[in-house]
Amino acid sequence: MGPVATLGAARAALAGGMIEVGITDKRFGAVQVLGQVTFTVAPGEVLAILGPSGVGKSTLLRIVAGVDEDFTGHVSGPARRAMVFQDPTLLPWRSALDNLRIVHPGLGADEARAILDKVGLGDRGAAFPGQLSLGQQRRLSLARAFAGRPELLIMDEPFVSLDAATGEEMLALTERLIAETRPATLLVTHARAEAERLASRIMHLAGQPAALRDGAGP
Ligand code: ADP
Ligand code: MG
Repeated sequence: MGPVATLGAARAALAGGMIEVGITDKRFGAVQVLGQVTFTVAPGEVLAILGPSGVGKSTLLRIVAGVDEDFTGHVSGPARRAMVFQDPTLLPWRSALDNLRIVHPGLGADEARAILDKVGLGDRGAAFPGQLSLGQQRRLSLARAFAGRPELLIMDEPFVSLDAATGEEMLALTERLIAETRPATLLVTHARAEAERLASRIMHLAGQPAALRDGAGP
């Protein structure tokens, strides 16, 4: 695809809520991983990013999340960002409830319990991550992301390695939380069905020409 940020979109980004991304160059050493990648995502909109393994999807998400600042270009938009990884990255020796409250210190115990309830973990607040199934860990990870009421939600393959029923449960839950919270959402997936279900738009990351990948480019 390759949507181009219009002047109007840029103004809306400044007005708040919208994320605007314009990456012109991202390299690891001599190898260019991302060239021209330009897009905007409005609040409540879900942009799905599809592309083969190794094409730079996770790299793109890390840049948008602000974790990787070593690139040429710009990212502007809302400050409240939440990232959901394929690996739930929970603190193993803290309860499910603590895993929420450590990331969101302002969250009261009742509020935290209500959020756990909402993702179907109402009776698992005292459990350690290791005592939860993978599906439950993913739901806790979603709860943690949404507890911050993110304006920008970044999800990197959040539904992989789940069985069909659990995957469907996660999809439905994510759909519901997005509809309630209305963040601008970036969803990386290699499952087209997921993208078509959740996304308002789909962008394909196609990769760089071989000359650039070999480091021979500009
Ligand atoms: P995807 O998420 O689409 O599978 P990645 O963004 O993880 O792709 O990686 C894109 C390319 O950048 C791959 O060729 C990968 O090997 C390389 N890469 C990713 N992270 C690093 C890094 N920290 N150092 C060097 N190369 C990296
Ligand atoms: Mg990846």
